[in-house]
Amino acid sequence: MPDKKQDKFKDECGVFAIYGHPEAANLAYLGLYALQHRGQESAGIASSDGREIYCHKAMGHVADIFTPEVVGSLPGVLAIGHTRYSTAGDTVLRNAQPFSVACNKGLIAVAHNGNITNAGELRRQLEQEGSIFQASSDTEVILHLVARSRERTLAGALREALLQLEGAFSLVFLAQDCVIVARDPHGFRPLAMGQLELSGDRISYVFASETCAFDLIDAVYMNEVEPGEMVIVGPKGMSRERYAPSHRRAHCAFEHVYFARPDSLVFGRSVQQSRELLGRLLHREHPTNADVVVPVPDSGVAAALGYAAESGIPFRQALIRNHYVGRTFIEPSQAIRDFGVKLKLNPIRHLLEGKSVVLVDDSIVRGTTSRKIVRMVRNAGAREVHLRISCPPTISPCFYGVDTPNKSELIAANNTVDEIRRYVEADSIGYLSHDSLRIAVADTKNQYCYACYTGDYPTDLIHIQELMGAKANR
Ligand code: AMP
Repeated sequence: MPDKKQDKFKDECGVFAIYGHPEAANLAYLGLYALQHRGQESAGIASSDGREIYCHKAMGHVADIFTPEVVGSLPGVLAIGHTRYSTAGDTVLRNAQPFSVACNKGLIAVAHNGNITNAGELRRQLEQEGSIFQASSDTEVILHLVARSRERTLAGALREALLQLEGAFSLVFLAQDCVIVARDPHGFRPLAMGQLELSGDRISYVFASETCAFDLIDAVYMNEVEPGEMVIVGPKGMSRERYAPSHRRAHCAFEHVYFARPDSLVFGRSVQQSRELLGRLLHREHPTNADVVVPVPDSGVAAALGYAAESGIPFRQALIRNHYVGRTFIEPSQAIRDFGVKLKLNPIRHLLEGKSVVLVDDSIVRGTTSRKIVRMVRNAGAREVHLRISCPPTISPCFYGVDTPNKSELIAANNTVDEIRRYVEADSIGYLSHDSLRIAVADTKNQYCYACYTGDYPTDLIHIQELMGAKANR
């Protein structure tokens, strides 16, 4: 993924939970490993042995944080995990998840994917009434609401707390003897449920943001945790309940466009299938007579395959990505033009020389990366560069858990498509239409959120306006 600027609205995360497995922490580690693409700055696992909750979290990648010793220090048959792209500065580790606390409902840990849009208002109320917050993350608000609830059981307190939240949340909770997961009533972010068969007909339940986490641990995908649903797995077995009345569903279209792994099922649909169809429809709407279809790796690969299949133009991986570009890389002090992109991508000259190239990527945000890549392809000898983008122009920030900058930095919010073409220096540009995006994600019942493409936010506008203001003034 490209470098991202820091702000507090981007809770790009992956969550995982497991109940009833003798190696719960180990499987949580593997699950997070598969979900690493959803967040690379911090990761954590909390486990329970029935008496204590053990938690380890740190900055960095899952594979570096969870050494065999660390995983070995997380006993018990139930665990939750989290991987996150988090905020900058010295508060970072404090914001890493899971959060684990002791309160009047017992010991609990929580991990969250999404963004609670009324967290600011809830936090102000809670602080006025004496609550003390340790982190700046919106997730902590949930723990305060749970602790303050008059309900006696954790499930009852959670129900009460969740009903006060607005926005996007796929949540996994760990108590001493149970795992509880819940999804917001719109179902913005994904949360899948699976099972693992153990010896003696025992079943272990697993939950993950994406099904690629199940594949790694040989779990079988069962279904989605439904929007507005809470699932409890404990000593008495598994139970599912609706804690909130159904709302219009608003699954994040961007999960299918970019964010999720193509080998996952997200909202019950194959991401690869959506992306290939995005590419096919892109060709139908914006055909070219180019010589080669070249993806921007990795984000444009599946759509480029679709574009090539539909057009009959040969597909060539003419840009090669270095997968080992890390945060620790020290840039040389002298200014080297386009260094950031060169570090990540390198063209194969002979595939591009003299050619008319269709360059396919999933989205343009600020336009700066796309401009550098178009230049790179041209400098490698391409005669023409036709940029094709497998979603509509990104015109509004996301407040439901995807990292987008504020409106003033979104190139499509402030420029016409032709102005964008000129900025990125492409010979032609084509964005997918909204209707085709709907077809590609199989949204026949109007169950997706397209706010980043339309500016129509499915939740309370007052909170969205507050968040917009906060983002613009940052
Ligand atoms: P730019 O041309 O600078 O707007 O960058 C576009 C690139 O950013 C595309 O390759 C996208 O795949 C990628 N991108 C889009 N959205 C995100 C996001 N939320 N996080 C990280 N990368 C993204």
